Amino acid sequence: MKFKPANNIQDLQYFGEFGGVNPSISDSSTYTFLSAKTMFDTFEGNADGCYLYSRHSTPSNLYLGEALAAMEGTETANVTASGMGAITPVIMQLCGAGDHVVSSRTIYGGTYAFLKNFAPRFNVSTSFVDITKLDIVEAAITKNTKVLYCESVSNPLLEVADIAGLAKLAKKYNLKLVVDNTFSPLSISPAKLGADVVIHSLTKFINGSSDTVGGVICGTQEFINDLRSVNDGACMLLGSTMDSLRAASVLKNLRTLHIRMQQHSHNATFLAEKFQDLGLKTVYPGLASHPSHDIFKSMMNDKYGFGGMLTIDVGSLDKANALMELMQERNLGYLAVSLGFYKTLFSAPGTSTSSEIPEEEQAEMGLSDGLIRFSIGLDADIERTFNMMKTCMIDLEILKPELV
Ligand code: PLP
Repeated sequence: MKFKPANNIQDLQYFGEFGGVNPSISDSSTYTFLSAKTMFDTFEGNADGCYLYSRHSTPSNLYLGEALAAMEGTETANVTASGMGAITPVIMQLCGAGDHVVSSRTIYGGTYAFLKNFAPRFNVSTSFVDITKLDIVEAAITKNTKVLYCESVSNPLLEVADIAGLAKLAKKYNLKLVVDNTFSPLSISPAKLGADVVIHSLTKFINGSSDTVGGVICGTQEFINDLRSVNDGACMLLGSTMDSLRAASVLKNLRTLHIRMQQHSHNATFLAEKFQDLGLKTVYPGLASHPSHDIFKSMMNDKYGFGGMLTIDVGSLDKANALMELMQERNLGYLAVSLGFYKTLFSAPGTSTSSEIPEEEQAEMGLSDGLIRFSIGLDADIERTFNMMKTCMIDLEILKPELV
């Protein structure tokens, strides 16, 4: 077996053609062949190591894909132009007309909209369920179900999927378990717990500098080959390919992910504990009060912590908006969607990243108006940040000074 170190990106060595410590960037959309026969064989998928056309694969994309596969412990990976550009081909590859998906009901709004509104055009239907209840998940499986879909830690409610439990169900009913691990890179390794396919939006923690969109699909060589097939591969034919220049820059950022995740987790744990002590309704998987705290703990790679995402509920949308505006004014972070930046980002998901979900369904799943989602940054002095956030809440009468 080829040696692939898990989570040790440093152990992967790719040199540039002149001995550069970074691999050279493949700045070409097409590749020449010395013989026409090799070109034909490459089309047929039988000429390992040859490149054909950059929508299919490029050396730079393969370097990044291999590093991410090593991180997730899968055989290989395919990088894509965005997280949605990873999610949609996976679903389209695994499901045809008449097929069915069982999905967590708390997932990123774009994924929800794709499954709810777009996939039915191809006669692919989805049942949205409470993914934390394995009996409910099992009851939703029909003879047409092909895919179990969830996020390890869900956007925005931070529900935690019992990946090993879901993997058992997937095995029992011969389904593919697809897990979006965007919120918990390094902390959780879904493939090791039995997931068949692991997806990330690289746009978030993995790239970490909010300067690009990108995605990855990690899985078996067979599945990735299927996705890349020139005849019926959803990645090849739908065309959401990452550009080589981007792949090279994401690879460089990936090398510091382990340090960044530790700091995101450290800062988020500090704030979550302090917010909870102040009596704020706080959701963070690292808090013992989180309903799936023990499951997260049982799945996690300890040293990376519980991740950088937390939510608080300040009671109303007006209060949430006022707090976010004030925190931004005082330079505590940015009122922005997305996550994984060095700076704290906050948004009210009900009116932003989850606005695709109808209001009644938001209420049913516990997505309240006053909810603020935080992606906690890399602040060097998190106690100072906390004190300044607390002052914002006192100034807006979200907290009563005498209770603090
Ligand atoms: N998955 C999750 C959990 C997300 O939060 C997002 C984006 O917010 C996506 C997927 C989609 O990723 P992208 O915006 O890179 O297409």
